[in-house]
Amino acid sequence: AASRVTVLGLGSMGSAIGRTFVERGYRTTVWNRTAGKSAPLVDVGATASATAAEAVAASPLVVVCLLDGAAVDEVLASVDDVVAGRVLVNLTSGSPAQARADERWVSEHGAEYIDGKIMGDPPYVGTPNFTVLLSGSRSAFDAHESALRVLGGVGYHGEDPGFAAVEFMAQVAMGYEMLIGFLHVLKLVRAEGGDVTEFAQRFAGSLAAYPPLLTGIAKAVASGEYPPDLGPLRVQAALMDDMIDHRESVGVETMRMRQVKELMDRRIADGHGEQGFSSLFELLAKEG
Ligand code: NDP
Repeated sequence: AASRVTVLGLGSMGSAIGRTFVERGYRTTVWNRTAGKSAPLVDVGATASATAAEAVAASPLVVVCLLDGAAVDEVLASVDDVVAGRVLVNLTSGSPAQARADERWVSEHGAEYIDGKIMGDPPYVGTPNFTVLLSGSRSAFDAHESALRVLGGVGYHGEDPGFAAVEFMAQVAMGYEMLIGFLHVLKLVRAEGGDVTEFAQRFAGSLAAYPPLLTGIAKAVASGEYPPDLGPLRVQAALMDDMIDHRESVGVETMRMRQVKELMDRRIADGHGEQGFSSLFELLAKEG
């Protein structure tokens, strides 16, 4: 485990990361394009470097947290002759393709690469409410796991450097897929004169039913055998008609409910009316 760490990029996230390393006793070297941003970190005990190359040379472990992939490319190009032999952990947001390209560049320059995607806000760095999804070099992860755990919860998602970004996209997508549905339901609750806050509290009480449901659906998808979760599709499809009618009667959009109904109808027409909701996955796979 490294007792020395370098942080490249002192925006709100990089500054919180640098500060956390200092507070946990790491000899922390920092660099930022706009030099003034390093002053608060120097005040708490970090060492500021004038160039990114100098900062990289100072530590075996280098954490990068810049605005985007273009910024990372620019900064990496300026450290190409000092990066060899180090471990670079890039916590900048970006795509799986960007992560894989960065890994190739870093490997070609004789260093090891770990890609990371951050789930959490700067004030939570160093707490359990801050999660970093990681993927890339297993040996580098094993060597620096304790330093990375200083930042918060850490999950290692495999040697493919793109996997952390894939997991990030999936996690974020789940949030949006659920929350847009939630907003439409609030519209419906309000259209019927209900109290949206009270409804949210009641629904929060129903959430405990979801973890086993999610696991069951994933098992069905993995095995290709679809038990009648939520009831057989032919029964569910009848309820969908009522849900669509109700939404129409109060002026709430029906797009997603119609999509679900359409998938159910196709599955039933294919002779699978006794299977469960999970079996709709078969139709999604065909479209992909
Ligand atoms: P900020 O805008 O606060 O900081 C951006 C940093 O990138 C600054 O240090 C900036 O330097 C640097 N930078 C931008 N372009 C270049 C460049 N061409 N060359 C060198 N340095 C450059 O962003 P955050 O710190 O909030 O975010 C950093 C990363 O963390 C992003 O990828 C973001 O998506 C991710 N993240 C942030 C979260 C948050 O809540 N803040 C949450 C989850 C992820 P300069 O000071 O010179 O402009």
